[in-house]
Amino acid sequence: MAELELDDLLMIYPFTKPGGLLGRKKAQEALEREKQSPYTTNEGVIALQKFSLHIADGEFAVLLGPSGCGKSTLLRLIAGLDSPINGQIRMDGKVINALPPEQRDIAMVFQNYSLYPHLSVYDNLAFTLKNQRVPRDELDRRVREVAQALYLTKLLDRRPKELSGGQQQRVAIGRAVIRRPKLFLMDEPFSHLDPALRVQMRQVIRQLHETLGTTFLYVTHDQREALALGTRIAVMKDGMLRQFGTPAQIFNTPEDRFVAEFVGEPTMNFLEKLPVQSENGRSFVHILGQTVDAGFRPVHLVLSANGFPAQVTQALQADGELHLSLDADGTPLRAVLPSDTPLPLRGQVLHFQLSPKYLHFFDP
Ligand code: ADP
Ligand code: MG
Repeated sequence: MAELELDDLLMIYPFTKPGGLLGRKKAQEALEREKQSPYTTNEGVIALQKFSLHIADGEFAVLLGPSGCGKSTLLRLIAGLDSPINGQIRMDGKVINALPPEQRDIAMVFQNYSLYPHLSVYDNLAFTLKNQRVPRDELDRRVREVAQALYLTKLLDRRPKELSGGQQQRVAIGRAVIRRPKLFLMDEPFSHLDPALRVQMRQVIRQLHETLGTTFLYVTHDQREALALGTRIAVMKDGMLRQFGTPAQIFNTPEDRFVAEFVGEPTMNFLEKLPVQSENGRSFVHILGQTVDAGFRPVHLVLSANGFPAQVTQALQADGELHLSLDADGTPLRAVLPSDTPLPLRGQVLHFQLSPKYLHFFDP
């Protein structure tokens, strides 16, 4: 178990230099690509900047952000596969920046994993413990404990090729956690599984975390997965931390418009046609001389005969709810209603109310 503290991390990948291992043409192409990245300095591509995050002992922390925002880079720095240009990484209060990966007592699972194809599930799980000369009965106990937490007990005699993708990934996870690392890092481990299996795996991983009590840091770009798994979620964009909080805090009190739009499905409504000033397709409300963005979540619109009218442009059942696309006097809105709401026709006018307490205001 471990507490993890990251302070003011800076990571820049240097631009590819011509005359390196790549041929001249390849190097030139790589450099062109890198220069197009939105965050560059004279030295290279900025992958992380001013990044500080403190994760408590035993926590299940989730890193959430769009592709390219620096999630994998952060895990690589924590694991010791790369070194930050600036900043500190501490585990249990001790600076580990200079510690080689094998001395960090951290395990990591990626999307792409490899099992020993000629070994059974049991022996794949037992492999590291055997190398560590763990006594036979303790080894057996630990293999069975991990197998049970990951629903692998009935599969212990099988070879990897006799397992489904999801089962193989569970073995890879078991193999990583069985040596009881202080910290367990996972980089989008289920992104190649089909959606139903991914939902199942969330249960399994939550349970594994409860069984082991190890500190987990889990990377995903899927906000649903983040909300379902995390005790706290760190939302990232462009190498920076935008908000760190419980799923309820992230969902109910997003600190900026990016977090508000990135989390929640269907995405938050923004009021683009208030009696306000409109610029570049976005509109702003003026309060006491300040300009703000105003938004609210689709679940907070409720049907009400005395409410404002909105015309239905699309209606569909999804996730046990009724999802509506609406046009409210030129403002496009999304609403999520209970699934037993009578299905409206396209073009039908419904009336809605929104309690002002659900309005969010953001600094644009
Ligand atoms: P994520 O995991 O969130 O998708 P990454 O950490 O992989 O993001 O990448 C962050 C940024 O750093 C991106 O702009 C990416 O192109 C760049 N980057 C990642 N790895 C390298 C590398 N080895 N060399 C140069 N740039 C890289
Ligand atoms: Mg990544």
